[in-house]
Amino acid sequence: MTKSANAHPHLMQPLDLGFTSLRNRIMMGSMHTGLEDRFYNYPKLAAYFRERAKGGVGLIVTGGISPNRQGWLLPFGGTLSSILDVPNHRTVTQAVHDEGGKILMQILHAGRYGYQPFVVSASAVKSPISMFKPKALTEDGIAATIKAYVRCARLAQKAGYDGVEIMGSEGYLLNQFLCVRTNQRTDDWGGSIDNRMRLPVEIVRQVREAVGPNFILMYRHSVLDLVEGGNTWAEVVHVARALEAAGVTLFNTGIGWHEARTPTIVTSVPRAAFASVAARLKKAVKVPVIASNRINMPDDAEALIASGSVDMVSMARPFLADPEWVNKVAAGRVDEINTCIACNQACLDHTFANKRASCLVNPRAGYETELVYRRAQQPKKVAVVGAGPAGLSAATVAAECGHDVTLFDSSDRIGGQFNLAMQVPGKEEFAQTLRYFSRQLAITGVKLQLQTRVTREYLLRQGFDEVVVATGIVPRTPRITGVERTNVVSYIDVLQRKVTVGKRVAIIGAGGIGFDVGEFLLHDPSVPLPLSIEHWCRDWGVDLRAQSHGGLVEPAAAKPYREVYLLQRKTTRLGAGLGKTSGWVHRAVLQRNGVTMLGGAEYQSIDNTGLHITVNGEPRVLEVDHVVLCAGQEPLTELMPPADAPSVAGAPRFHKIGGAALASELDAKRAIREGAVLAASL
Ligand code: FAD
Ligand code: NAP
Ligand code: SF4
Repeated sequence: MTKSANAHPHLMQPLDLGFTSLRNRIMMGSMHTGLEDRFYNYPKLAAYFRERAKGGVGLIVTGGISPNRQGWLLPFGGTLSSILDVPNHRTVTQAVHDEGGKILMQILHAGRYGYQPFVVSASAVKSPISMFKPKALTEDGIAATIKAYVRCARLAQKAGYDGVEIMGSEGYLLNQFLCVRTNQRTDDWGGSIDNRMRLPVEIVRQVREAVGPNFILMYRHSVLDLVEGGNTWAEVVHVARALEAAGVTLFNTGIGWHEARTPTIVTSVPRAAFASVAARLKKAVKVPVIASNRINMPDDAEALIASGSVDMVSMARPFLADPEWVNKVAAGRVDEINTCIACNQACLDHTFANKRASCLVNPRAGYETELVYRRAQQPKKVAVVGAGPAGLSAATVAAECGHDVTLFDSSDRIGGQFNLAMQVPGKEEFAQTLRYFSRQLAITGVKLQLQTRVTREYLLRQGFDEVVVATGIVPRTPRITGVERTNVVSYIDVLQRKVTVGKRVAIIGAGGIGFDVGEFLLHDPSVPLPLSIEHWCRDWGVDLRAQSHGGLVEPAAAKPYREVYLLQRKTTRLGAGLGKTSGWVHRAVLQRNGVTMLGGAEYQSIDNTGLHITVNGEPRVLEVDHVVLCAGQEPLTELMPPADAPSVAGAPRFHKIGGAALASELDAKRAIREGAVLAASL
């Protein structure tokens, strides 16, 4: 996979903006980390951006900063409205400039997406994702809002930013003014598209006037709203041209409102799915245009620039996953990229839970000053048993710190359960993590011993100082009469394709694995994976040409491939424990495929007819060919010494991490983080 250093020449070309130039065509898009909301976290924020600027990215955009209190996304969210805030921001701009980078501050007014009581919008239309109903801005309120944007941009200039990005997409305030969905005004700020775009155009015009010509003014324009009452393509272009005339230096593109019921960034969205929409905008305007959403590897990015489709690519989450993304591409070390798998588990899911954003595959993200991989004073002989995500993380970090590490796995390949996860349609990206770790093992010099099932006695004989038990889990077999029958199979056999599953299936257990197995069984094997962009658009009803309002059309999904029942004993909503920003997508796929989801199920028995259950006291027989067990997991800890074992001088210290430590609620985020934290402390 390694390519020569000039394999991505277009991506590495500078971009001349007239009064300034960017060192390459790659932008780190805006991501809310949580650090920007508190002044005392600015040194951490500066370290986070410094690492990315050092990694070679051409342009960085900060997380959203509000121009005033009404624009807060969350109570006391990051605001730039006073000269007193400027010194904090200077620590950030200084850090980026020290590393030769450029940085824009994003001005984000949340409008009715604000999760706080001061929310305002174009009209008093409540959003489905905030409990606070907005007040419609008065004419005076609109004038004050424009002033706040101008003041914010001026202060950003004082703080040393190279420009600002005005957030006009994802359904935030300016997008709310642009679309009839949320703009029902009858004054000069509503009605026709000329009136609806008056606020963003006026903001751009006045900001440009205030900051002068030599300050980057990027506008993030919603090119596909993906909501009813969104704009048509003709309107999108009309607005873009007016914004360009008002002083925009370059356009970033935004896809979908946050309340859209079409996924836009989760891992099952095909790579670069929306780049063609950005390419159409480029044809309509003269200033440079940036493509965004689900671009994570350099070949796609290079193709977009080389073909002249767009001028730059924006990636946000990929820079959480790997701050050195650009330098690695420039040096032809593409196979060393720690690829963002678009899981959202440690970034967006954290943001929406008001927690600091990090990254599942890179636990250092957002913790640059706290999780540091230092050279060990006394290198040790370390055994790591289990090459799943936990063991891979522990082994590579320990070796990076200078320890002599041997990694064992009983399987013939690394990856543990990730090998199963990547079989699930739409989770193909998970293979990238194993490619990354495979390369890291070689670079850090870990001695890998596959097909080696080790015992405690063996480990005690080998003179290890530290033993890391990362042996994962064993699947739980529930006690149900008939569970031993041949029509009952485990999720492992299904995902490894060891069994031919019939057309009617009942899945016991509706956790993450139950949902994934459901998607696996519903996929028609004659359809190639990953899904093509066209196929995915048909399934979700997306019209990339946006001839219709918001780019929405009737979905044309195929007939379900199997008849599936998904069951749990709890009476809560099925899938309630799935990721906040991705769970709804899994539920929607299963619903679209007619899956019967049953909560409150009591399992009675399994026989030739199928699965006998009771729901609300009513007996039911699910006539199925197979029952698939996805009933959770138990830790595999056979290598750990018994708790009461006497301590022996010279014996290694044993540690458990990942599934071996705790199987319930385990996910790879915790497994990888635990591995890294332990290894850094050895
Ligand atoms: P494992 O991945 O189970 O690895 C343990 C390893 O230890 C195995 O390779 C095994 O062969 C080896 N081993 C065991 N005993 C020995 C021994 N005595 N000697 C040598 N080797 C031994 N998590 C997420 O965060 N997000 C997801 O979207 C997600 N999707 C998933 C989908 C599926 C279908 C599955 C099955 C899991 C998914 N997971 C997901 C869970 C995730 O894969 C696990 O949390 C993670 O793999 C746990 O890592 P681990 O290293 O602790 O254990
Ligand atoms: P899980 O989320 O704990 O779900 C286990 C399921 O089995 C539950 O639905 C549970 O529901 C059921 N169950 C538990 N004990 C049972 C019993 N004795 N008899 C019958 N049913 C039983 O675990 P998982 O689905 O195995 O997933 C393992 C880990 O991988 C999870 O922690 C998950 O986070 C992670 N994962 C994550 C994703 C993701 O998209 N983020 C995807 C896949 C896996 P009831 O108790 O109500 O019956
Ligand atoms: Fe990407 Fe997942 Fe990391 Fe977020 S947590 S940056 S989606 S790999």
